[in-house]
Amino acid sequence: MAYKLIFLGSPGAGKGTIAQKLAEHLQIPHISTGDIFRSNIKNRTPLGLQVESITSSGALVPDELTIALVQDRLQQHDASTGYILDGFPRTIPQAVALDNLASIDIAINFVVPQEVVIARLSGRLTCSGCGRGYHKIDFPPKTPNVCDICGNALITRKDDTMEAIQYRLTVYEKETAPLIQYYQEKHILANLNSNQNLENVFMELLQTLQQVNK
Ligand SMILES: [Zn+2]
Repeated sequence: MAYKLIFLGSPGAGKGTIAQKLAEHLQIPHISTGDIFRSNIKNRTPLGLQVESITSSGALVPDELTIALVQDRLQQHDASTGYILDGFPRTIPQAVALDNLASIDIAINFVVPQEVVIARLSGRLTCSGCGRGYHKIDFPPKTPNVCDICGNALITRKDDTMEAIQYRLTVYEKETAPLIQYYQEKHILANLNSNQNLENVFMELLQTLQQVNK
């Protein structure tokens, strides 16, 4: 079965991992705007060149351009029957534009208490040599602060400091609250308790999808 899905959830809610797992399970593409931007820039497409010139000046990619890129991606063959949109839409104008492009079956909102998200994000460590990711509690290295693979020191990335985390969460709340309401009013929002182990989150997600008439 193929579904057209939107994944909403704060940083650290685990939606990226679940999206990857579900994409494999359903054989549909996992589409994130970050990946679309990167691949268009890499392939030097006209839209990619626009993104590059905007982001290199430090500005945010405007909605119209993001929408054009997503539209282009959704028209590709592998997305003809279904997909998971991760990180899009991020604004109401994007959501309205998406309504004109596709008929979304369900928007999944990954719900995790903020203190859990903060604990997850603040425990992240990254190898300064090979870039491998660790976690102080969930996935610690064998020797504290040393990479299992290459032996280099583990660092906390700038994105993962407490201040940066608080900022990202505030931005997320501000951006996403209207989207949650938008999909609730369309009666296609499903809240998913993401504060449990990965297997249970995945099982609950599959049960939620089964309730959608396909
Ligand atoms: Zn390493």
